[in-house]
Amino acid sequence: MVKVLVLNAGSSSQKSCLYDLPHTRLPQEPPQPLWEAQIDWPHGGDGAKLKVKTAHHRHEETLQGGSRPEDSARMLETLYSGATRVIADPGAIETVGHRVVHGGEAYRESTRITPEVKAAIERLALFAPVHNPANLAGIEALEALLGSQVPQVAVFDTAFHSRLPAAAYVYPGPYEWLDQGIRRYGFHGISHRYCAERAAQILGRDLAQVRLVTCHLGNGCSLAAVRGGFSVDTTMGFTPLEGLMMGSRSGSIDPGILIHLMRQADYTVDKLDHTLNQASGLEGVSGISNDLRPIFKAIDQGHARAKLALDIYIHRLRAGIGAMAVSLGGLDALVFTAGIGENAAPVRAGACEALGFLGVALDPQKNNDRPRDADIAAADSAVRVLVIHTQEDWAIARECWQHLRR
Ligand code: ADP
Repeated sequence: MVKVLVLNAGSSSQKSCLYDLPHTRLPQEPPQPLWEAQIDWPHGGDGAKLKVKTAHHRHEETLQGGSRPEDSARMLETLYSGATRVIADPGAIETVGHRVVHGGEAYRESTRITPEVKAAIERLALFAPVHNPANLAGIEALEALLGSQVPQVAVFDTAFHSRLPAAAYVYPGPYEWLDQGIRRYGFHGISHRYCAERAAQILGRDLAQVRLVTCHLGNGCSLAAVRGGFSVDTTMGFTPLEGLMMGSRSGSIDPGILIHLMRQADYTVDKLDHTLNQASGLEGVSGISNDLRPIFKAIDQGHARAKLALDIYIHRLRAGIGAMAVSLGGLDALVFTAGIGENAAPVRAGACEALGFLGVALDPQKNNDRPRDADIAAADSAVRVLVIHTQEDWAIARECWQHLRR
């Protein structure tokens, strides 16, 4: 068996898991990891929480380390010591996969990490100032633990979108923007790709032959138009702020609003950043939460702004799906994934209701029946509608396994 460690380092949390995979053949269904861990760093304070789960143990502790590298080191220690121990020592780890948010134009697929790749990830921090440095810190933490001989692989969230046609990725600003790297990149690519492959598998079709719109609806939300096995259009752009309305991000708005706020209300860069990334979206409109569940509750109690937030969310989701379907020139299946896509039946119903003219018809019973990796379209629907549990960590582990085989 091959032990593959996956590290998914974000701005305020770090998730990791260890898979034990056969040498010869990858399982069709995602296997249960041997060990799963997560650190949550609270906003501006001490007392990060570490949670670890194995088949036999659950462990929780408040970390005293103080620095993030120390916290990460403690997390990794639980792999080979204490009650959550699943390997004898770090030497048992044969390869490590990292989710890296921004791979820029150069990285069109996952890549073995070399000093050159690290330099590129660092350079691209210019475009992903929170995420790429966190990813790099994760890579360095593992290098310190395992030495540089153990292969590490970077799996990029932008890679699946790297074949967008120019018409889809060039912004209609000055042409010089392109030389400065200001173009559309797209994100959530690991999830969109996993869901597209899984959809083809569920449909019993060749991925290269199906036209899909994949809807990744979590805290961040984006759509991808998938044709010929790649993303040919997507809603996120230069940053993960473009496109759909999200938990606390605005998604696309008239850029004239920014000019207005700077001119009339003296908005600074930091205030604009905070407003658009943290104080907008479901949170900004509802005034309740960036999380859809309390918004549903408030709607039940007659809260008008909660209802408005959901209405805008669905209105924009419909518009986005329509645009993606047109980029594809037709639609074989619509795929919902991530927290909202997998769990919020009313959002799926709201989106599909408007797509009847494209031949989309939901089976309401199936939609409400907590579907997972299942088709929820009515029998006579011209377009299949799938709910797929996204498995980004598993997708990263598969990439690592394939790199080892090469
Ligand atoms: P992230 O993008 O941070 O990984 P998730 O994919 O976990 O986020 O999605 C978070 C979103 O999913 C939140 O808006 C949350 O309310 C929503 N969500 C999770 N479970 C449910 C549920 N049972 N019903 C409705 N929404 C849900």
